[in-house]
Amino acid sequence: ASLDLGLPWNNRFAQLGEAFYSHRPPTPLPSPHWVGTSPAVADLLGLDRAWLASPAALDAFTGNLPIAGTQPLASVYSGHQFGHWAGQLGDGRAILLGEVDAGSGPQEVQLKGAGLTPYSRMGDGRAVLRSSIREFLCSEAMHALGIPTSRALCVTGSPAPVRREEIETAAVVTRVAPSFIRFGHFEHFSHHGLHDELRQLADYVIDRFYPACREVPGSAYAALLEAVSARTAGMVAQWQAVGFCHGVMNTDNMSILGLTIDYGPFQFLDAFNPGHICNHSDTGGRYAYNRQPNIAYWNLFALGQALLPLMDDQQQALDALEPYKALMPAALQRRMNDKLGLTRVEDGDADLTESLMKLMAADAVDFTIFWRRLSHAVAGPIESVRDLFLQREVFDTWATRWRDRLQSQPGFDAAATQARMLQTNPNVVLRNHLGEIAIQRAKQGDFSELARLQNALEHPFEELPGQEDLAAFPPDWASQIEISCSS
Ligand code: AMP
Ligand code: MG
Ligand code: MG
Repeated sequence: ASLDLGLPWNNRFAQLGEAFYSHRPPTPLPSPHWVGTSPAVADLLGLDRAWLASPAALDAFTGNLPIAGTQPLASVYSGHQFGHWAGQLGDGRAILLGEVDAGSGPQEVQLKGAGLTPYSRMGDGRAVLRSSIREFLCSEAMHALGIPTSRALCVTGSPAPVRREEIETAAVVTRVAPSFIRFGHFEHFSHHGLHDELRQLADYVIDRFYPACREVPGSAYAALLEAVSARTAGMVAQWQAVGFCHGVMNTDNMSILGLTIDYGPFQFLDAFNPGHICNHSDTGGRYAYNRQPNIAYWNLFALGQALLPLMDDQQQALDALEPYKALMPAALQRRMNDKLGLTRVEDGDADLTESLMKLMAADAVDFTIFWRRLSHAVAGPIESVRDLFLQREVFDTWATRWRDRLQSQPGFDAAATQARMLQTNPNVVLRNHLGEIAIQRAKQGDFSELARLQNALEHPFEELPGQEDLAAFPPDWASQIEISCSS
């Protein structure tokens, strides 16, 4: 028996051929229950919202009931982990059901935590409830912040035990993106000298997602590398601007579409610390907050190396990577200027931003609260911002500089600037402790806190009554939360 969702499945990745994946159906889980759903993602797929709440949907998205039209598979990729070549990795617990030609554009649908695949290596093919909730909430939070990301349709849970540091329970996240192809897919075929497959993959990505690369004179593959670099720069600039640490920027976790994918030990900064390391397993701090722009470049370099067999020479790859060096800081400065209420980037803005970051770091100022209060201060008193600092006179000097710069803008309008800043600097982000509270409640079978948090994260720029606690300073115990790669 299989379930017909009435969706137009068109499984293009499957059409690439068997070199790219292994057919593998999801492995069922006992007694599934709902954990969370995102009606907005149902809309994105053209899936009936009411149907999403049905028992059949619960079975289907846990992997217990085949969906008509899907061709479940696990794809093969390789990659660099923590700066070292890791060899073959692949979808060890994610199963690609297929691709839906949704009205809003084609979307692939994956079940993460759906059981063993040929690429599971030492793993069990499962995902635990806590990390599945984190991925679900963060996908939807990032989207609402306007940051390119995979989406999440739903999470289901099961009492099936999963062994991590302790015994936990299983969950499945249904995640959605136009493509889940990673830098690591290219590295895989390149490393094994499979240049026909490498070319086939690059052509597929260009034709489907980067058609403009064919119009550029010279190598379409070099153009692809440059286009991916540009999207990656834009994405990382947005991460930095909102204080998001990804935590595991291995090349197998880098989307070829410049989407934020593979939510693991990520964190939104609480107190500002540029060297903050959110991943407890990252002892060297390779993926610290302030290293993300450089690590993205390192990863792009690995992608460039993988694409070399398709290019005339090494110089072509280097030339394609070169623009990133200017693009990245420019994209970041544009984002920081938006946060500051400045419409254009001028000389001196980099210094204005940098001196602020230094001051915030020295006083460990809460990142999200600072920017929100600063937004309100444009057309109001600055005391609440000033109160965040220990070195108040130093802050005053900076604030005077900022106000002068704001007011020097032609036609400066305080109210309009404030309105813009309040749509740029979020009131609510998925702080670790907020996720933790929702997770603890969910573990007890109460999903109401998760739903409340999800709703707030879907409207991050609003100050809704009854949600004040979600926008407040983190409690003392927040800094003790340890999030590792274990998920
Ligand atoms: P990550 O660090 O989460 O990006 O995962 C790296 C690799 O390990 C990927 O190939 C994953 O599919 C695989 N992996 C992670 N957790 C598991 C698991 N529990 N079972 C099987 N494979 C896993
Ligand atoms: Mg991964
Ligand atoms: Mg992961």
